[in-house]
Amino acid sequence: MLGTGNAFLPYGRLHSFAMIDGKHIIDCPPTALASLRREGIVLSDIETIFITHVHADHVFGFPFFLLERRYISDRGQEKPLTVVAAPGVKEHLLHLCQLAYPGSLDEVFSTIQWREESEGTLQSGLTWKRFRVLHDESVDPFGYHFDAGTDGSFVHSGDSGPCRTLYDELEATNMAIIEMGIPDWVDSPHHHTPTELRTLAQSNPSLLMVVTHTFIDQPGIHPVPTVTDVYPEHPSNVVHAEDGLLIQQSSSSWSVV
Ligand SMILES: [Zn+2]
Repeated sequence: MLGTGNAFLPYGRLHSFAMIDGKHIIDCPPTALASLRREGIVLSDIETIFITHVHADHVFGFPFFLLERRYISDRGQEKPLTVVAAPGVKEHLLHLCQLAYPGSLDEVFSTIQWREESEGTLQSGLTWKRFRVLHDESVDPFGYHFDAGTDGSFVHSGDSGPCRTLYDELEATNMAIIEMGIPDWVDSPHHHTPTELRTLAQSNPSLLMVVTHTFIDQPGIHPVPTVTDVYPEHPSNVVHAEDGLLIQQSSSSWSVV
């Protein structure tokens, strides 16, 4: 977990941002470069970006990501980059790149391989299935179910409130990276609250739920919290992720470090 905060950057967190096997990233938030630099990850080693939806806290780091590869870590443009995203995202990100650095990213943008199908397989054998979730419809919201065969399967919720499509996918896996974007007192169907996650965890006791996109500061890091720095009481199958958390799979069970 390279970042675990929601759009408002609670103290101690960068924007929610996950990496798989050191080479595939989920979304490209405004703080993506900070997250990658902090972990010492060479940007040209990233092979794939999966886009969940086009809200700014999920994609506004994309122009910086391309700029860095083009002019620093892959000047020779030898490292292929694949973007997996719903139809329409390509045009949105092209517009974003043209606004950000007019003319400077056109060439590198044209080298991207786009995969717009809702199910597919990467060269490494990792498969994805993109499924609709409950979020602002104007940003085309999806979650992903990743499957690496005997190496395990997991779900990333993207940004979503409680919905059948997400919960059906959760029933078919044993680990989920899931958002908790709002406190209980915010009334919105588009994000999970602590109470909704508690209910979900209780009804799926064998599912490891790693909470991200949180409104809660890293506990104890700042004297005046943005909203709060106290984690809710949740069942033992819920882990409140902090930036840098490593989720590992071995012998068909998941663990966090
Ligand atoms: Zn969103």
